[in-house]
Amino acid sequence: IYILAIESSCDDTAASVMLNGKILSNVVAGQSIHEAYGGVVPELASRAHQQNIVPVVDQALKKANVDKNQLNAVAFTRGPGLMGSLLVGTSFAKSLAYGLGIPLIDVNHMQAHILAHFIDEEGFEKPPFPFLAMTISGGHTQIVRVNSHFDMEVIGETIDDAVGEAFDKSGKLLGLGYPAGPEIDRRAKLGNPKAFKFTKPKVDGLNFSFSGLKTAILYFIQKEIKANPNFIEEHLNDICASIQYTIIGILMDKLKLATKATGLTHIAIGGGVSANTGIRQALKNGEAKFGWTTYVPKFEFTTDNAAMIAIVGYLKYLEQDFAEQSVTASSRLKI
Ligand code: ATP
Ligand code: FE
Repeated sequence: IYILAIESSCDDTAASVMLNGKILSNVVAGQSIHEAYGGVVPELASRAHQQNIVPVVDQALKKANVDKNQLNAVAFTRGPGLMGSLLVGTSFAKSLAYGLGIPLIDVNHMQAHILAHFIDEEGFEKPPFPFLAMTISGGHTQIVRVNSHFDMEVIGETIDDAVGEAFDKSGKLLGLGYPAGPEIDRRAKLGNPKAFKFTKPKVDGLNFSFSGLKTAILYFIQKEIKANPNFIEEHLNDICASIQYTIIGILMDKLKLATKATGLTHIAIGGGVSANTGIRQALKNGEAKFGWTTYVPKFEFTTDNAAMIAIVGYLKYLEQDFAEQSVTASSRLKI
């Protein structure tokens, strides 16, 4: 079964071709235009998608060495995401499926970040049901009980900022480029994680809060700069390491609570922030410390990509779960 998948929920235009659960191609066109603004500008994102979508899909087919007439279905991200961005991928996928006379499959982007673990990939094991998933990305922070491919229950989530925003907004305060997550990760390796202490937010149960951390970092920097105008430059790696250490602590505390509450010890992470080397290490440490079995996706399946949309498309194809041509994008689609 050949699936063509299209992802356009935020600022990456992506297409992938999959054959029976195996990736044949996985093309992503990022949008550097947003760097100048320190965040994604929705209007510019949809325009760039419109320019990129045809070449990106073409390239995905060419790289896979598959002709569009061989395709069995077209899968696309229906939501959640930026409405203008979603509309480009949705409209394109609907037209293509209609033109080729093949089924159309709608995909939930947050389910896809989790189901990326079911892509057939050498050296990567698939988590057994039921398991816990922690999706940590630019727009979401969720702990999900995954009973089967399409039976998922969110048991905890952020009440304000997402963890990716915590990385990006802290980075902005430090004068780092956008998105700052990868650079904080890089610098954290060179710094002392215990150089500075930031208090963790107090949120009951399995929910998260990250907006307080951003404010704490802002006040901390303002205070230090008063005493030493070069404080940031002189201590950048230590600040990054300390911020990352605090964030990882928050995530791990909630994971420990979630394993206690559910009795589940198989844990999969997904989403852009799961690329973070510190988080990957902390999770691995949990195997020896708490008896967890952990699943970390291949690097290219962490930030937005269409391979994860393709695997959901394939799993839905097997269940003959298709969308109507009347389907519309949904910016706040829930799991
Ligand atoms: P959502 O999936 O919630 O709709 P999104 O699609 O915009 O949001 P992703 O592409 O999944 O988000 O993730 C992007 C986020 O991942 C950004 O906030 C970025 O800073 C963060 N990120 C990427 N790599 C790293 C890293 N190595 N360390 C920390 N954060 C990272
Ligand atoms: Fe995402």
